[in-house]
Amino acid sequence: MRTRFAPSPTGLLHLGHAYSALLAWDRAQAEGGVFLLRIEDNDTQRCRPEYEAACYEDLRWLGLSWPEPVMRLSDRRETYQAVIHDLIDRGLAYPCACTRRDIQEALSAPQEGVAAPHLYPGTCRHRKGEYPQEGDAVRLDMAAALGTIQHPLTREETGLGAGQHVLDPARLLQDHGDIVLMRKDIGTAAYHLSVVVDDAEQGITDVIRGADLAEATMLHRLLQAVLELPTPRYHHHRLIRDENGKRLAKRDDARAISLYRHEGASPAQIRAMVGL
Ligand code: GLU
Repeated sequence: MRTRFAPSPTGLLHLGHAYSALLAWDRAQAEGGVFLLRIEDNDTQRCRPEYEAACYEDLRWLGLSWPEPVMRLSDRRETYQAVIHDLIDRGLAYPCACTRRDIQEALSAPQEGVAAPHLYPGTCRHRKGEYPQEGDAVRLDMAAALGTIQHPLTREETGLGAGQHVLDPARLLQDHGDIVLMRKDIGTAAYHLSVVVDDAEQGITDVIRGADLAEATMLHRLLQAVLELPTPRYHHHRLIRDENGKRLAKRDDARAISLYRHEGASPAQIRAMVGL
């Protein structure tokens, strides 16, 4: 059993991150498994080395360690590019020179309360077979990708618990359409692509992450099927919220782990604050 914590170093880690990381760590410890760390620094505009350093410091202070080298997305551009070329060769992806805005949205993990980008109208779909040029993003041809899976995945296969959606091709087409797999600066994978490739590379058997990513899991299962990657088990945990019921975000520095630490809190107190 192998779990992971995969923060993006775009701010200080807060109580929500502590909860996610501790759950993954505890699960690995309980089952004699391995806990791994991956730094999702694909958003080169917003990621900062000082946040990455703070992340290591916070996690170590919480008592976590990782026996294998940290995986960093910025080291893996060639891998993502090879996967993209494979998808293009198979007629499942195509270059796209359209708007920047939805590409930016596709780069980060989806968050609760943030509206889904509008569906891409397929303007560049006629460019199938071409590799991206300077200034092109790459999109998945969702209909073609869905056409490669033999049957709608069952609830067990999606890794989602009872009461959650199954992988419904019509809904994926309607809600997500031709998602961005790589953004315009060539080699920078969008989150949905990097996360499936990297979970497979790290041999992750159990993905433990927030309930805000449950919907994205559908896309991840589809990409795993298309790329013939193993499918981990998914556990989506409750979100840590502020007193107004809002999910914590990186801008909530008031709840940064490092702030509590500097105020004299102990790791045990952090655990208690998140209900562990
Ligand atoms: N980098 C993502 C985040 O910070 C992680 C998403 C995941 O665990 O798959 O939200």
